[in-house]
Amino acid sequence: MIYNVGSINIDHVYRVPHLVRPGETLSSRSYRQVLGGKGANQTIAIARAGADVAHIGAIGHQDAWVTQALATAGAHIDDIAHCQDLLSGHAIIQVDDAAENSIVLFHGANGAMPLDTVTTPLSRGTASDWLLVQNECAHLKEALEQAHHQGMSIAFNPAPMTAEVARLSLDGVSLLFVNEGEAIDLLAAREGVDDAQVRSDCATPEALMARLHRHFPSCACVLTLGSKGALYSDGHVQLSREAYKVNAVDTTAAGDTFVGYFMAATVRGATPQQALEEAVAAAALCVQLEGASSSIPARKEVVALLE
Ligand code: ADP
Repeated sequence: MIYNVGSINIDHVYRVPHLVRPGETLSSRSYRQVLGGKGANQTIAIARAGADVAHIGAIGHQDAWVTQALATAGAHIDDIAHCQDLLSGHAIIQVDDAAENSIVLFHGANGAMPLDTVTTPLSRGTASDWLLVQNECAHLKEALEQAHHQGMSIAFNPAPMTAEVARLSLDGVSLLFVNEGEAIDLLAAREGVDDAQVRSDCATPEALMARLHRHFPSCACVLTLGSKGALYSDGHVQLSREAYKVNAVDTTAAGDTFVGYFMAATVRGATPQQALEEAVAAAALCVQLEGASSSIPARKEVVALLE
């Protein structure tokens, strides 16, 4: 079982002619309410990839449709707390005619959920289970510590990167997922240098990977490189996979799709090379569709692309 301690957001998406200016009242051309949040996206990706995943997180009590959407994707939803006194995390998203966006994010229940929302379900974790965490909800440190204590395998995607998370102890983390920007921020914060220094030292993704390994020697690292694909290294074996050449229309949730498919393949017993192949193929399908969770493919589509 993969226990994913992660954010659940309700995205309110407004199409507007231009982003609203200070003091302006602007009519929206359309409105959509969709499920989002890195946590929920990764849970959906794992479930669509066919692995067992239990989502751990919290929402406001009035938003049952959200858990229904996760259940429909195939996730276990019993560990999602419905908090009477909290609002669900949500984002107010304006998208203008030039496809620019602006976002107001309210963490709500993701940031304010009680500690036992995380610790009670994780107390069931055993050495055959995985914890997956990102950096969009409360109690990250406690989740990592508890999973380590219980001997679970731990995968960490420190996104969005913050100074606090960059300095967190990663003892017990066996799989680290970062994109290029996150890798640079992580190294810069750990080394007390600025981003530009790390960028100029690491002219290639391979150099960036080598530097990650100096900091996390006992951890396998996966470095995603957008349209250039992804690298994997466990310190001994270095693997790479180019991205598919596709017409990318919206890269939202590409990283989440990648993480979910890589995790699902890993728990299925696939080799890191196979996991990389599946994750890159799934992310290539994701970027060809607009939307976030709705653009995460089903495994049969991924298998068809790989054949
Ligand atoms: P994030 O979305 O977290 O910033 P990346 O941009 O590195 O992560 O994208 C994750 C993965 O999605 C990449 O490793 C790649 O496989 C795939 N991907 C992203 N952008 C493209 C693209 N333009 N064309 C094909 N695949 C892409």
